[in-house]
Amino acid sequence: MITRSSALLQRPDRETQPQPLPIQARWQTQLARAIRDPRELCRRLGLDEAWWPGAEAGHALFEVRVPEAYLARIRPGDPSDPLLRQVLPLAEEAVTMAGYVADPLAEVEHAPAPGLIHKYAGRVLLIASPACAVNCRYCFRRHFPYEENAPSRAQWESTLDYLRGDPSLHEAILSGGDPLAASDRQLAWLVERLEGISHLKRLRIHTRLPVVIPDRIDDALLGWLGATRLQKVMVLHINHANEIDEAVMAACRRLSAAGVTLLNQSVLLRGVNDDVGTLCTLSERLFEAGILPYYLHVLDPVAGAAHFDVVDEEARKLVAGLREVLPGFLMPRLVREIPGEASKTPL
Ligand code: SF4
Repeated sequence: MITRSSALLQRPDRETQPQPLPIQARWQTQLARAIRDPRELCRRLGLDEAWWPGAEAGHALFEVRVPEAYLARIRPGDPSDPLLRQVLPLAEEAVTMAGYVADPLAEVEHAPAPGLIHKYAGRVLLIASPACAVNCRYCFRRHFPYEENAPSRAQWESTLDYLRGDPSLHEAILSGGDPLAASDRQLAWLVERLEGISHLKRLRIHTRLPVVIPDRIDDALLGWLGATRLQKVMVLHINHANEIDEAVMAACRRLSAAGVTLLNQSVLLRGVNDDVGTLCTLSERLFEAGILPYYLHVLDPVAGAAHFDVVDEEARKLVAGLREVLPGFLMPRLVREIPGEASKTPL
């Protein structure tokens, strides 16, 4: 099959053109070259030096990481751009707020084995990679102890024994970090073992990588994902319609063609998507990409993210306004995650 990239490689005038990265290395190289310097981020987006101290203060708490493919969707010179707001470190992150803590979902209490979180009946979450392609400033895992949850293959086997020993489990959820930041070899290895657990029916992948580096959805990934006997669900994380460009659309089409059910969860974020028009456009754009809106989460109270909060009353009003303009199947469910509850809690 000739892909877009291989077609480029076969062009007769290739010696005079900039050469594309090798197909297998493209997303890894983009990941490795992501911006990790807050001043560089400001410079590249035309933000003046007044932004540097705040960006550096936030970066000291949770490092900046923005891949080029995402940067290209941000309007230069606009500090209120909704995509930039999600990735630009700010001085506000250092402000201590009552109720905002390092582990707002008490996940550490639900980790019975390395790389495994078991909170809800019937499904478990596997931390398949500690890394992300983008560091979202509101992330509820910004303080997560990934170093204690990065199993070796031998440790994975004992973690998988936990799944083998519990026939009530029907679904394995790959999470992180971002699970798709792991290599295809590692993911294929893990999924092959999950397939061998007869009571597992579904593989769910929670990821932002197809959004921030759409080239992640390549032939190698579709090879192991398309081949699994498990039903496949991918829960993307998109907060604003501007995140869905043509490359993201193409990646979603490839996933759908491979039999992957696509859902989206968003976080309701002050200054990013806290108005009815923005949320409506997001749902419409998601559906154009073949993705169903699934959850609209209120912010988890993680230390460093209080400036993104939208109070419950306002959140309910926004969703009521959204219901007036959208068909039911485009309505995300407004939820909060409360530690110890048996499921997400509708608001
Ligand atoms: S991609 Fe997901 S896990 Fe990674 S920083 Fe963003 S919200 Fe957190």
